[in-house]
Amino acid sequence: MEIRIPISILPSYAYCPYKAYLELSGVEGAETKELIMGRKWHDLLQKEYESKSNILTSIEEARKMAKEKELYIIFRELPVENEILYGKIDEVWITPVGIFIWDDKPKVWFGYKLQLMAYAYAMTTGYGIKERVVIGIRELPNRKIAWKDLFKRKHEKLVEKFVSRLLNNLERGEFKKRSGKFCKKCKYKKVCYG
Ligand code: SF4
Repeated sequence: MEIRIPISILPSYAYCPYKAYLELSGVEGAETKELIMGRKWHDLLQKEYESKSNILTSIEEARKMAKEKELYIIFRELPVENEILYGKIDEVWITPVGIFIWDDKPKVWFGYKLQLMAYAYAMTTGYGIKERVVIGIRELPNRKIAWKDLFKRKHEKLVEKFVSRLLNNLERGEFKKRSGKFCKKCKYKKVCYG
């Protein structure tokens, strides 16, 4: 059976492997303040984008237009996929100087960086992109750029390492649980510990 990993599961896996397992199994957790805020922000940004967007084009066409006409073209909720990963990127800028991949998050944290690396990996392999790619986190609520980096081979390797661990866990049906401060803030604390 062919298994493909939703990129949005990687931050959960980095947080707690068992959390990723519960999410992949479709187990509903409690609504946390962070989840409610995250959804609100997402809907707001999407509405703002829709009110401004005025062209419809493909990624290939946008890359060509950006180079030939020196344009900046912005996509939101861009689907990306390769053989193993799939997901939707919050925002992508196609520009004459390269591609910028942004995610709006409440803070800068390793799991979110990993998610961005996986988006860049799926996008560059899926679309055959050779341009310079920058990945970054814009911190909510002010959406200031709080972290950015040039996407490199070392990021691909990190994504491959996590994906291979996750596949291994799935194959063996074994997912480690966390404890302490991790569980305290987790939407599954009742599921795991009653
Ligand atoms: S409650 Fe703890 S063990 Fe359970 S999913 Fe959350 S972090 Fe993992």
